[in-house]
Amino acid sequence: MRYPLLTIATLTLALSAPAANKLKVLIVDGQNNHKWDITTPVLKDALESSTAFTVEVSTTPQKGSPADAWASWNPTFSDYAVIVSNYNGEPWPQAVRSSFDAYVKGGGGFVSIHAANNSFPEWKEYNQMIGVGGWGGRDEVSGPWLYVKDGKLFRDTSAGKGGAHGAQHEFIVEIQNSDHPITRGLPKRWLHAKDELYSRLRGPAENVEILATAMSDLTSQNEPNLMVLSYGQGRVFHTTLGHADYSMLDRGFYETLQRGTEWAATGDTKATAEVPADFPSENKVAIIKLNGYPKQAAPAPKK
Ligand code: ZN
Repeated sequence: MRYPLLTIATLTLALSAPAANKLKVLIVDGQNNHKWDITTPVLKDALESSTAFTVEVSTTPQKGSPADAWASWNPTFSDYAVIVSNYNGEPWPQAVRSSFDAYVKGGGGFVSIHAANNSFPEWKEYNQMIGVGGWGGRDEVSGPWLYVKDGKLFRDTSAGKGGAHGAQHEFIVEIQNSDHPITRGLPKRWLHAKDELYSRLRGPAENVEILATAMSDLTSQNEPNLMVLSYGQGRVFHTTLGHADYSMLDRGFYETLQRGTEWAATGDTKATAEVPADFPSENKVAIIKLNGYPKQAAPAPKK
C-alpha cells in the first residue's frame, strides 16, 4: 500500500458520517400508559447506534397540565426528517395537531411505536396516518380489523372492539413482504423478545401494507407487527412491538426500527440495510446489551 494514511483517513470518514449528513429524528414522549421515561432512551440508543441519525427528544407537559403549559409545547416538526412517537396520552393542542398533520401530509416521516397507536382515537387524520389502532373506544365504527389471511391483507368488518393482547411472551415475527427496503435480506421468521402481541387493531386502514405479522393465540390470525403507510406525500412506519424496555432490547426490534425510521424519512434504507450478524433466528432471541438495562422486570411465564 503506497498511501496508508490516506486509506485510514478515507475509512474513518466512511465509518462516521458528519452530523450534517445524518437524518434528524425527533422522539415525542411525555405521556403514556407505558414507561416512556424508561423506553425513550432505548429508542434513542437503537437509532443512534446505527450512525444514520441524530436524535432529539421533545417531552409534552404531564397529564392534567393547564392550558398555558400546553401552549408552550409546539415542536417545529419541519426541522426534522422524521418524528417518532412514544406518546399515548391527552390530545395535543389544535395548533400542534394541525402542524403535525401538515408536516406528514407535506412529505414528512412518522414512526408509531407500540402504544402510540392507542393514542388519539378521536383524531381522524392521526388514525389515517397509523392505519389501525387499539383501545380508546375503537370498534367497527373506527374501521375494519386488519390481519393477513392466506398471504393477503384482510379487512374484517364484523362488529367488535379494537385492540387486544394476551399475556406477554416471546413470539415469532414472520415477514410477509421480503421485497421492501425495511425487510429486505432479513430472515423470513425470527424470534422476538418478550412483548405484548397486539391483535384486533382497527382503523381506516387506507394506503397500508403489512410487512410482518405474528400468529396470535387470542385470535388465531396473523396480526400485523410492522406496517408501512402513505399519508399525503408522507411515509409512516408503524410497529406494534415495544411494550417495555426488555421488549425493545432485541436485535430484531433495533434493526427494524432503524430501517423503518430511515425509510419513513427518505423512502429507502441506504444507511441501515445491512443485516447484522447477530440478527435473531427462529429459535433464539438476540438480546441487546445496554448499560443499566433492562430497568423493567418481565413477568414470569404463565404455567
Ligand atoms: Zn403495552
